[in-house]
Amino acid sequence: MARAHGFSILGIEVRGLSIGGIETCIDLPGFGVAFDVGRAPEHVIARPTVLFTHGHMDHMGGAAYHCALRGLRRLPPPTYVVGHENVAAFGELFAAWRKLDRSTLEHELVAIGPGEEHAIGPRLVARPFRSLHRAPCQGYALVERRTRLRADLAGLPQAEIRAARSRGEEVTDVVEDIRVAFCGDTLIDVVDREEVVRTAKLLILEVTFLDDRVSPAEAREKGHVHLDEVCERADLFQNEAILVTHFSARYGPADIRKILEARLPATLRDRVVPFIPS
Ligand SMILES: [Zn+2]
Ligand SMILES: [Zn+2]
Repeated sequence: MARAHGFSILGIEVRGLSIGGIETCIDLPGFGVAFDVGRAPEHVIARPTVLFTHGHMDHMGGAAYHCALRGLRRLPPPTYVVGHENVAAFGELFAAWRKLDRSTLEHELVAIGPGEEHAIGPRLVARPFRSLHRAPCQGYALVERRTRLRADLAGLPQAEIRAARSRGEEVTDVVEDIRVAFCGDTLIDVVDREEVVRTAKLLILEVTFLDDRVSPAEAREKGHVHLDEVCERADLFQNEAILVTHFSARYGPADIRKILEARLPATLRDRVVPFIPS
């Protein structure tokens, strides 16, 4: 079994692991959030917010355990963000666990979907988008909002900017930075449909199948991405880096590196990093 691991990409610390059907947990300590908790590795217990993509066991199975461990350690109750399709069942799961565990399993449950957003911090929001999978699934973009001096004022002397401000003018603009997009489990169609997926600085994309052991058609039937489909769309990706993940357990780490090296077109090779144990 692959162990949890972590590294930094574009200055963003990423921990966790993701193996198709087994366990997915992508932990971003710098943003205070994790995507999915399949089995709750130790490092993710400290994360106060989990954004769940869908209800498959390998993505949601560790939710109650995550909550219980935070309680045990007297950490503040966590926030769990789920799609509207899953909120009722998620609530029932916790109701059953409260009876079994004789505990309160305190947490805040937030249901949102595409078109809505959830504030994580004063300048950071999570914005869901529709992924396409065998179960209802949504990805999330982490969007940072910052203010900058209005473009037409840039380069002007301080006195003029002060004068504009004293006339009551707004001298700053709000700009949005799509720092990360995580698709969860999905068909490749999410790349065609969702601009945030193509433009996020860091894209975290599942590529479950890598070669002809499983054909692209079979990958689609299973609701997952095949590497051929990524290569065909090489020109669409505007991301600074693409972390590829959720490989089928049939591929070993050396295998994954070798296949990516051999098959990725030059325009993607430098930007694509596999999320596997080093
Ligand atoms: Zn999965
Ligand atoms: Zn799934």
